[in-house]
Amino acid sequence: MSDPNEWNYAPAPEAAKQARISDRYAHFINGKWADPKEGEYFQSTNPATGEKLSEVALGTKRDVNAAVKAARNAYDNVWSGMSPRERGKYIYRIARLIQERAREFAIIETLDGGKPIRESRDIDVPLAANHFFYYAGWADKLDYAFPNRKVSSLGVAGQVIPWNFPLLMAAWKIAPALATGNTVVLKPAETTSLTAMKLAEIIADSGLPDGVVNIVTGMGETGALVVNHDDVNKVAFTGSTSVGKRIQKSIAGTDKKITLELGGKAANIILEDAAIDQAVEGIVNGIYFNQGHVCCAGSRLFVQESVYDEVLWKLKRRMDTLIVGDPLDKNTDVGAINSKEQLETIQRYLKAGVDNGAEMYQPACDLPASGNWCPPTVFTNVAQSSIIAQEEIFGPVLAVQTFRTVPEAIEKANNTPYGLSAGIWCDKGARLFQISNQLEAGVVWGNTYNQFDPTSPFGGYKESGFGREGGLHGLAAYLDM
Ligand code: NAD
Ligand code: MN
Repeated sequence: MSDPNEWNYAPAPEAAKQARISDRYAHFINGKWADPKEGEYFQSTNPATGEKLSEVALGTKRDVNAAVKAARNAYDNVWSGMSPRERGKYIYRIARLIQERAREFAIIETLDGGKPIRESRDIDVPLAANHFFYYAGWADKLDYAFPNRKVSSLGVAGQVIPWNFPLLMAAWKIAPALATGNTVVLKPAETTSLTAMKLAEIIADSGLPDGVVNIVTGMGETGALVVNHDDVNKVAFTGSTSVGKRIQKSIAGTDKKITLELGGKAANIILEDAAIDQAVEGIVNGIYFNQGHVCCAGSRLFVQESVYDEVLWKLKRRMDTLIVGDPLDKNTDVGAINSKEQLETIQRYLKAGVDNGAEMYQPACDLPASGNWCPPTVFTNVAQSSIIAQEEIFGPVLAVQTFRTVPEAIEKANNTPYGLSAGIWCDKGARLFQISNQLEAGVVWGNTYNQFDPTSPFGGYKESGFGREGGLHGLAAYLDM
């Protein structure tokens, strides 16, 4: 392996003090900051250091009731009756304000969640702004989006999101809801509430009428109160498959409309004619950047036997050069694991992989003394039935298997309860399309990975959930027609 020292860069840290984080955040209800009715708060920490960043209101039943009431009131009396063109102006304004404060959003996202600043700066924040821009454009064109259909909004949307793309998931939820004339109660993930609170500041600055967007922070119980509230008409959830199943069960028999975006165990398939260097870079991007904290992370790799040695050699060599550490440093590739619990989960899987007889490789890296860290990890010699080939790990852990023929690769790739995404690396476009049609995945990338665009629908099938976000599909999920 190459000498990692030859890759040392001078540190280039982003300035944490550019982010204005309050010591304490209340809920955002009816356009105002609302102290939690039971007076309780919980901490949000920086997973790269373990330091406390702020404290956030713990939402209880009375808080959620107040938020839903505000959303209902805003829906009935202001938002549903407003001209679509006017609604669109507010959404544009939110998009522009995110752009104006992009740097601050990126720093807070990185401080609170542990992802590299390069990711939050170049991916999370610009995509969040783009999502608002895109749906702002549709607000007054719904008749063109769904010609010859009479569409109407649903009412109050209860939305619960995970910690891996905190601002971006908030944008995916809020923007289409507003563009279709619904009002919102959003519950961010408990480890990453801070960019949602910054978004609340922007929403207040945008002049959006009071109560159209309400944000209630808290734990899973707070999320359960939101989705199960009687006066919520639409439930949108992104998170784990186990919680998704629980939500589906709890709202069965109600007339709530629901979309679920759940877990994944994506396969990348490298065929022997692929451009290997490009493929290796795509694999690394798909599983190691962002610590594998991506529902569509390329956590399984299938390599055609004839190129296996070359792929593995190049992959390990590239892993040796990955920079793991301070998420605020612009050179960092792999940041901190989002929480202690998540780190323990990942470590359990690493042990299970080794116990199952797979071979583990991790490059030597100097991990910081405090905080939650996991080096990029690859497993070879992985049995198809192994737990690391079957279950979602949600960490920087790749399980590699080989195949001889394409049908064999397709069968192995589909042999999972999930169906969110996949990647194919090969030289022939026709072959790529042929294989993609046979993969059970909502999104299939060809000779690239993790590409996102607001105009393109995203979502899974099987245990990865149902419904689509993004594009016209994302509008339809918030409309009756
Ligand atoms: P999680 O399901 O534990 O939590 C997600 C959110 O749900 C959090 O806000 C949490 O507080 C809330 N929650 C927990 N229990 C709840 C309940 N009973 N009722 C209502 N809300 C509840 O998941 P996580 O650990 O925060 O996130 C990681 C998971 O999310 C992974 O499995 C990942 O694949 C999935 N994910 C999927 C997508 C996608 O688009 N498909 C995107 C991001 C993450
Ligand atoms: Mn945090």
